[in-house]
Amino acid sequence: MTSEQLFYDKKTGFDRLTDEDKQGIQTYAEGYKKFLDESKTERDAVLEIARMAESKGFRAWTRDDTLRPGDKIYRINRHKGIMLAVIGEKSLAEGVRLTAAHLDAPRVDIRTVPLYEDNGMAFFKTHYYGGIKKYQWTAIPLELRGVVCVCENGEVKRVQVRVGDKPTDPKFVITDLLPHLATEQMTRKATEVIKGEGLNILIGSVPSETVDEKCSEKIKLAIMEHLNREYGMTEADFLSAELCCVPAFDACDIGFDRSMIGGYGHDDRVCAYPALMAVLDQKIPDDTVITILTDKEETGSDGNTGLNSDYLRYFVADLAMQEGLEPRHVLSRSACLSADVNAAFDPTFASAYEANNASFLNNGVVVTKYTGSGGKGGTSDASAEFMGRIRSLLDKKKVLWQVGELGKVDGGGGGTVAKYIANMNVDVVDVGVPVLSMHAPFEVVSKIDVYMAYRAFYEFFKD
Ligand code: MN
Ligand code: MN
Repeated sequence: MTSEQLFYDKKTGFDRLTDEDKQGIQTYAEGYKKFLDESKTERDAVLEIARMAESKGFRAWTRDDTLRPGDKIYRINRHKGIMLAVIGEKSLAEGVRLTAAHLDAPRVDIRTVPLYEDNGMAFFKTHYYGGIKKYQWTAIPLELRGVVCVCENGEVKRVQVRVGDKPTDPKFVITDLLPHLATEQMTRKATEVIKGEGLNILIGSVPSETVDEKCSEKIKLAIMEHLNREYGMTEADFLSAELCCVPAFDACDIGFDRSMIGGYGHDDRVCAYPALMAVLDQKIPDDTVITILTDKEETGSDGNTGLNSDYLRYFVADLAMQEGLEPRHVLSRSACLSADVNAAFDPTFASAYEANNASFLNNGVVVTKYTGSGGKGGTSDASAEFMGRIRSLLDKKKVLWQVGELGKVDGGGGGTVAKYIANMNVDVVDVGVPVLSMHAPFEVVSKIDVYMAYRAFYEFFKD
């Protein structure tokens, strides 16, 4: 045999694309960019996904609603996660096909008691969400999104807040220190250049004209007057709010050749969107297929909207009940693609990667056998058998794919939702899109890779 037959060859994607792929890639990227701008928080994403699903014939499902093959259903978990399923021809006793991605992304959350006035300006105190390099979040335009539960006379009213995404909207910003005066700041470690308590959002500077002699904070008063007018809220209503600041820029093409997409929150909406489209595009599959789009991955998957909770298990249990099956028997025969991003090799930071085991832009969707850190800690580690099954499926369906680990051994590490699904005795492997500048306010992916993620999830469901 020749070396060509015997060696594993990491070719770039361009050599292997069909004409059909080349067309699909461009159309697909346009749909994805729209989704990305609409869905900057998990709450916004869930609303948009439910709207898209309903337009494709999906219905909100409760367990007393009897299901038949071909039925398309969804269930929302507390406004922040959503599960979508298409019922297959075969019994659930054969197991289900799952694809899981997350809708939350690193950002800056508004604190419980956030509003203060200081030296002629008003600010919000924040607590950052997920793993960020704090210095990247200063001096960029931010928008405010979220919900306030306004409490008045024993009534609770939910109010949506969304400021900064329309062209005429004002935006917000976290200030940084001018270089002229930053001699001390620039000697600090990168984790301390901007401290957690320094992520203060500038929100106003004009005092109220209301005559109120007891009030010494006239700018804070003007802000509260505005919020009361717009949302009916008082300062105490921040206690029952979930507001956050996210980057105020839209997704766009990157490069003269427009081969890449820059945007906020590719991690993990670049996998959530293909996983969503893969389920929306199903007709009547053999096995029942489920896409689960979850919250709280970036903070460790805890809480009742994270995948460390039982909500997915209960959904599968409710489906199993339809056929009088034990949920554990369904789960034990199920398979899952955990759809999350990986770190694309970046030549500017080559020493963080081991090139043989890194994923590369434009080489297709990445299959990651294990994540974790410090000796594979905290990973579910897909079996050789399941890797073999997925490898041969992707090759058979001509999906462009590659393998990739997360950086050098002992270089750091990270995890995904894979282990929480594996812990339910489901076969799982991580399959996702390589990303440059992951967790920065503006991340970069390749259009080929996004499209190949869709093809991988679609073929996995159909297989
Ligand atoms: Mn992720
Ligand atoms: Mn992440």
